[in-house]
Amino acid sequence: MKAKKRFGQNFLHDPNIIGKIIHAANPKADDLFYEIGPGHGAITEELVDRVAGLHLVELDSDLIPELEQKFGHKPYVQVRHQDALTLALPESVDGRKVRVIGNLPYNVSTPLLIHLLQQADRIEDMLFMLQKEVVTRIAAQPGGKDYGRLSVMLQHRLETQPLFVVKPGSFHPVPKVDSQIIRLVPRENPPAVDFATLERVVKQAFSQRRKTLKNNLKGLFSAEQLQRMGLDPQQRPETVSVDQYLQLANALKPVNG
Ligand code: SAM
Repeated sequence: MKAKKRFGQNFLHDPNIIGKIIHAANPKADDLFYEIGPGHGAITEELVDRVAGLHLVELDSDLIPELEQKFGHKPYVQVRHQDALTLALPESVDGRKVRVIGNLPYNVSTPLLIHLLQQADRIEDMLFMLQKEVVTRIAAQPGGKDYGRLSVMLQHRLETQPLFVVKPGSFHPVPKVDSQIIRLVPRENPPAVDFATLERVVKQAFSQRRKTLKNNLKGLFSAEQLQRMGLDPQQRPETVSVDQYLQLANALKPVNG
């Protein structure tokens, strides 16, 4: 079957890398996993017999019969023909949360991460393959060019642990860029913040990276208000910490924590 660009299809065929992914995932016999974009089942095959439950969420209808045939007969496997952007994870039962894994379609990886982030209270952890450049941005610290919206939005709610790099030759078709595995673990004590307000503040703050905070946040905060919060109105948005963005969002729309 020809790989479809519009579905971000680059299929893994390197047994060494698949083994490393499974090792990093460390599946346990009572785990409930959701795999996003199982494709032909490269990761699934190594995961399926080690877990208690496995939901396979695949958007490409042409792949569904193959997934059904390979894995559908196992009573604890559910093949779901679904856009992962509409995925609603189950609420945790008795404190037990789901685990999420996937070699993500790169064309929708950012909206997918934001979608899952909003269900973080239902998730034990996530292990994803992403473009290396995206992993760098997710895990970036303030002060550099990689630190931006994605860093703040993900880090405020998740611990970000970049793992190993995967070279293009491990996929078919061969992508143009390096990939990297990252583990994302929801923080135990998440900060109280209104998600949409944080998104709005961060989006506006980074709308023009070369401009000052005061300029970008015009209409939301005055220079005096920024100063009262310990910020320098002349600061660039990439020098503002995650905690300071939380403080800004909470100043606009306080949330009781
Ligand atoms: N897991 C397989 C592997 O490692 O070989 C396939 C990975 S491939 C990079 C991404 C997979 O995600 C493809 O199977 C693609 O059809 C599927 N996909 C693309 N967009 C999706 C979406 N919005 N929801 C669910 N699956 C999607």
